[in-house]
Amino acid sequence: PALMSCPQVQRALLALTVPLEMLQAVKGRMLQAMRKGLSRQTHAQANVRMLPTYICSTPDGSEKGDLLVVELCQSHVRTLWVTLLGDGNQSPQVMYKIFDTPEDIMKGKGEALFDFIAQCVRQFLAGISSPQHRLPLGFVFPFSCRQTRLDKAELISWSKGFSCSDVEGKDVVQLLQSAINKQELYHVDVVALMNDTVGTMMTCSMGGEPCEVALVVGEQRAPRVPGWWVLGGLRWCSPPLLPADTGTNSCFMAEAQQVEMAEETSGRMCVNTEWGCFGDDGTLSDVLTPYDQRVDQESSSPGERRFEKLVGSLYLGEIVRHALTALAAEKALFIGSSVAVLRTKDVLKTQQVLEIIDNEEGMAKARGALEALGLRPSERDCCRVQQICRAVVSRAAALCAAGLAAILSHMCQSRELERLVVNVGVDGELYQGHTRFREILQSVTGLLAPECTATLLPSVDGTGQGAAMVTAVTLRLAAQRREVDRLLAPLRLSRTDLERVQVLMRREMELGLGRESNANASVRMLPTYVCGTPDGTERGEFLALDLGGTNFRVLVVRVAQDDIRMASEIYVIPTAIMQGTGEALFDHIIECIMDFQLKQDLMEQVLPLGFTFSFPCQQLGLDKAVLLTWTKGFSASGCVGQDVVHLLREAAQRKKHLGLKVVAVVNDTVGTMMSCGYDDPKCEIGLIVGTGTNACYMEEMQNVGTVEGEQGRMCINMEWGAFGDNGCLDDIFTDFDRLVDEKTINAGKQRWARAPGWGGGWLGGGCARLRLPGLCPGRFEKLISGMYLGEIVRHILLALVKKQLLFRGKPCPKLQTRDIFQTKFLSTIEIDGLALRQVRAILQDLELQASFEDSVLVREVCQTVSLRAAQLCAAGLAAVVEKMRENRGLARLTVTVGVDGTLYKMHPRFSQHLQQMLRDLAPNCTVTFLQSEDGSGKGAALVAAVACRGAEPRGQPPLSPQ
Ligand code: ADP
Ligand code: MG
Repeated sequence: PALMSCPQVQRALLALTVPLEMLQAVKGRMLQAMRKGLSRQTHAQANVRMLPTYICSTPDGSEKGDLLVVELCQSHVRTLWVTLLGDGNQSPQVMYKIFDTPEDIMKGKGEALFDFIAQCVRQFLAGISSPQHRLPLGFVFPFSCRQTRLDKAELISWSKGFSCSDVEGKDVVQLLQSAINKQELYHVDVVALMNDTVGTMMTCSMGGEPCEVALVVGEQRAPRVPGWWVLGGLRWCSPPLLPADTGTNSCFMAEAQQVEMAEETSGRMCVNTEWGCFGDDGTLSDVLTPYDQRVDQESSSPGERRFEKLVGSLYLGEIVRHALTALAAEKALFIGSSVAVLRTKDVLKTQQVLEIIDNEEGMAKARGALEALGLRPSERDCCRVQQICRAVVSRAAALCAAGLAAILSHMCQSRELERLVVNVGVDGELYQGHTRFREILQSVTGLLAPECTATLLPSVDGTGQGAAMVTAVTLRLAAQRREVDRLLAPLRLSRTDLERVQVLMRREMELGLGRESNANASVRMLPTYVCGTPDGTERGEFLALDLGGTNFRVLVVRVAQDDIRMASEIYVIPTAIMQGTGEALFDHIIECIMDFQLKQDLMEQVLPLGFTFSFPCQQLGLDKAVLLTWTKGFSASGCVGQDVVHLLREAAQRKKHLGLKVVAVVNDTVGTMMSCGYDDPKCEIGLIVGTGTNACYMEEMQNVGTVEGEQGRMCINMEWGAFGDNGCLDDIFTDFDRLVDEKTINAGKQRWARAPGWGGGWLGGGCARLRLPGLCPGRFEKLISGMYLGEIVRHILLALVKKQLLFRGKPCPKLQTRDIFQTKFLSTIEIDGLALRQVRAILQDLELQASFEDSVLVREVCQTVSLRAAQLCAAGLAAVVEKMRENRGLARLTVTVGVDGTLYKMHPRFSQHLQQMLRDLAPNCTVTFLQSEDGSGKGAALVAAVACRGAEPRGQPPLSPQ
């Protein structure tokens, strides 16, 4: 009550209170400042520097080995020997020694400083008769650095009393390594440099959940008495603690992509915020009191480090001193005493302020402190002084909370989470020693970032053990990276590999086209008798059938001057019919056509019909196609070896359906080319990348040895999925591909056994020569298409688990299941951006508990597999476009590829990689890609239309089989 009655004190307390709305605003400004620091464009002007640390992982407990740490502190050097046992970091063994740094070294030559540090290392190692094997060293260097790698950091500027010459702008890792080499400690390897905040984050990660944020407020309680300390387990045997650093700083695991100053784009990276300088551009002016202004003016760096001067423990005593001076001048305090002593800088220590705010002892401490200054405080004075001290400390805690809330909200947003659950490591005596500070920090953070649940963890010797952890994690990651690279290397194709594939494809194409060589070619180059692409003059109404895709459909397609309209029905083909007799199957098809015509009121007309029949056929004419084998669950008897158009016509006769005029049978690749050709006359290539893969293109008749006639062009259905079945791609096949392949044989799932070749005893037994042991047909397809990519990824993941590189090596029973990793997962997982939680969700569905790093690795595997697929596809296409260009004697070919297939259409990167690689491999061709819409429906009708346009197809009659 006595307090309430004094307006001056009330005013002072009010000025030192930051209301919640203002804290919200401070948080918002901190967020803005952080974004400014992260962005490449604005980084240079940012107050909150957001320095990349190149630390991309937190400990996972598997770290083990001996590590050396050197910590450069304000007045001493500490060397540590840490042994990690790979036991979840439950009981790291720590030994350390502290060396006093002579004053002249801190201000002398840079070389002398680093020589001194290296000598400390040598003495330390001599004292423990350490083994001579390679010793990784982590260097704690608590100054602002421009880091470009974990082991490369240029000092920006000295602080904390250091001013050694010839170090600023130099790589301090290199300086230390050279000095260590001078001491002939060649086995000591400086592998990581970090600042003290990062160390805090790393130690708090020990055991259990990762800690992804760290906060230092006030003095870090680093041990600092020269001599030896040996510690076992996590418990420190409390050596005397003295101040190491008195500022404030924070760091957190940011999404690497947002850290624009670093090149890393996937995963996360720890960012050192250097938030002490927040507000140096005036953004905190509405928070600052006249007392803060005076503290700033009297400091060694006026106008700088404004946030630190509000929050860091160095300044709390000073703020209180200025407040008391002002109140005394207003006659609200110390009436009757001389307060001249309060004009002396630093007479009131932060430590005293912190003692005064204590509930029990506080009043006595206040009296003691004031009397020690020669003041004669009344009971009321002591009470008011305590209030002021509390306000200053509470404000520091609340502002610190605003900063922390900004970090948490930033993490939550950038991870696209609804709720962030995170551990925050906290070091510094303000937090560790003071309940009041801790409580305010916790509760205000909760109010300002309600979407985040942060658990605050006190850190134990953050700098020392943390540095060891950083070093250990670095080693673990480097070793893992080497293993992963070794495993994935065979899947990464060089430009030379791809050029070779292109050459091989070209050779197989020539073989497939040659009359004599066709039988030996793995690429069949089947004539389609489609001799022209649409020219836009096609008109009329057509029927189309689509059999062999996901559904059986009947369509009517109206081709008019400006557009194509379609109506269609999906019909079910019962399994009994799919697997019954051929007659029943084709009868059923005719019934469906009749039903459709009835519904569409088309019974009276005789419409030309195009038939998309997506099973492997040897075509003998535009309307004559011999089925080579059934696939996709069909096995109707009496069809293989028969002309499917003939089977259809026979069924029509049986059903007395006389108004049926089948003019063309096409495969889906050709349909795709034709439907795109209607929109773009340059479309002379068709490409499918769906369940399988295939391509077709317009070849010169004179090159088609398997069909007589030299005039014009004919579309060739390459059936390129079988490319390599003669073994020519075997060195590209990896162990993973072989595993996928073996499983395909077992399940009897190979797409189609090599059918007999034209002229090579065809319709006979098959081409035994080509059925090499080991791999079954469809090799090119197995590297590229949707049916296999997921399986390849699954086998790689299994291998990674086995090598303990993924999911901590835990067995994954569900991952053993064939086809459980679907190709569509690759599309989701590879979507750009930060949606790594989607990766986790997919893996969780597979009962795989993925850490963040696991998700990044799974994504890398998917990317490697899909990139290879796209590049191989590009190599195939390069052979095609180059052949077309040469055929036509052009210096430059401009051509369009019509594409269909869900993999091509849905995968976020496939088309981009394909096109990029194609540009690279076929630089003299300008290739445009056009996605087809309903190629199998529209395309079949257009083939019929083109055929009708010229009355008769221009193709020549086929050679009769021998
Ligand atoms: P089809 O080739 O049988 O005519 P599609 O072109 O629709 O059929 O391809 C289907 C195949 O595409 C599926 O077997 C699957 O492997 C793959 N797939 C399905 N969804 C996706 C997706 N979102 N991303 C990549 N591939 C997919
Ligand atoms: Mg398809």
